[in-house]
Amino acid sequence: MCRHPNKPFDPANEGTPDSEWCALLSRCLEWQPKRGPLVVLAPHPDDEILGAGGLIHDSAGAGLPVTIVSVTDGEAADIERPSLDLIRREELQQALRKLSPVHVVVKRLGIPDGRVQDHDNRLRNAIESYADPGGTLVVPYECDGHPDHEAVGKTSIEFALANGIPIVRYPIWTWHHANPGALAGLPWKRFLLSIDAQRAKVRAIQCFESQLRPPRGPPIVPPHVLTYFSRSFEAFI
Ligand SMILES: [Zn+2]
Repeated sequence: MCRHPNKPFDPANEGTPDSEWCALLSRCLEWQPKRGPLVVLAPHPDDEILGAGGLIHDSAGAGLPVTIVSVTDGEAADIERPSLDLIRREELQQALRKLSPVHVVVKRLGIPDGRVQDHDNRLRNAIESYADPGGTLVVPYECDGHPDHEAVGKTSIEFALANGIPIVRYPIWTWHHANPGALAGLPWKRFLLSIDAQRAKVRAIQCFESQLRPPRGPPIVPPHVLTYFSRSFEAFI
């Protein structure tokens, strides 16, 4: 069971200071994926870059096959904004061009944003077709605090454990709302980023205009949240 805060988190709140996370993560092991295909599941366009952009950069640069499974198009971020699905898909393509000189394949599932748990069979079939026992599955943390992130995380973990597929999970909203002390017992690992990977990731993140600088309302991903994704390493569980 996931332990969540009593009320839903609000990205506008300041959130957990990154220094508290870095104190925990400075003690964890360095990690490298198995040398093989990388399959990254993203509930919404931007999660793959925020959570694993540096890992994608390095794997694609090393000539390994990288597939992004884009589960929803993220259209529910602003239900009054027309064609937000198309805008976010295009932002992802731009971000991947900034991130990697090598083409990265995106497999789009088109599941409705906010309703991933109602489409578990489709998700499971997709994981089954793209996951590779010789590679690594990279998925959102199953207790991340957003229902789509949790649905993708849970289904992926079940599939990976049942089929012996190496898997790591990336937190997104956990950084903002969770207490590092409560999660200190998880098997954290750090993937160190080269200066090149860090720069490419910063450029890629800036492509998500709709989330950073929406035409109205506060940003979905405000600057204080971006701090968690500007580290010199990426942390996985
Ligand atoms: Zn998301």
